[in-house]
Amino acid sequence: MTDIDPIHISALQHWAYCPRQCALIHQEQAFEDNIHTARGQAVHHLVDQPGYEMKAGVKVERALPLWSEGFGLIGKADLVEFHPDGTLYPVEFKHGRKRGALHDDIQLAAQALCLEEMFGRPVPKGAIYHASSHRRREVPTTEALRRLVAETAAAIRAMLASGRLPAPVNDGRCRECSLHEVCQPGMVAARDRHRRALATLFDPTD
Ligand code: SF4
Repeated sequence: MTDIDPIHISALQHWAYCPRQCALIHQEQAFEDNIHTARGQAVHHLVDQPGYEMKAGVKVERALPLWSEGFGLIGKADLVEFHPDGTLYPVEFKHGRKRGALHDDIQLAAQALCLEEMFGRPVPKGAIYHASSHRRREVPTTEALRRLVAETAAAIRAMLASGRLPAPVNDGRCRECSLHEVCQPGMVAARDRHRRALATLFDPTD
C-alpha cells in the first residue's frame, strides 16, 4: 500500500453517510458550511490543538496524527487515552446528543486500526463523545467494523480512480447535508428519471 496516495479517515465517514458527499468533498474539493458543520467545528475546537495532559494516571493526547500503511489511511484522533496498563483508547468528538451512527463508528474503527499499526498493540474499543449530552458511547472494534473499514477504503479508491460522481441518495440524509446546494439531489434525480424514461420511449420490445 506504500505506493498509493493515502485516504483521509474522514473520507470513510463521508462515504458511509453518502458516497456522493464523499466524492464532492474528496474528489471535487467542494465544502460548504451549515449549522451542523459549524457545530462540529465548534466542538472540534476543544481538541484541535496538539498537546497532552495527565488525568488520574492516564495520559490524554489531543489531535494525535494517525496513519496506516496497511490500510492506506491518514488522519487525526481528537483524543487518545494512554492508560498505565498499556491500553490505547481513541475518543472522537461529535456535536449533538448521544446516538448510534454507523458512519461515526467506521471513523472510530479506522482510528483504532491506525493506532494498532502505529503502536503494535490491539485497540479493542474506543468511544464517541457526544458534546451536547456530555456522554460517551463506547464502540468495540469488531471484526465487522474492521472489514467495513477495508471495504470502504477500497470503494473510495475505486471511486477516486474512476473520477465519477456517485448518484445522489436523495433521502432524509440530504436535509442535514451542508452540500445540498452544490449537490442538487432532487434536480439530479429528476434528470436521471427523465433520461431513463427517454431511453425506454422507443424501446422496440414494447
Ligand atoms: S445532498 Fe444528499 S445526495 Fe447530495 S451529497 Fe448531501 S446527502 Fe448526498
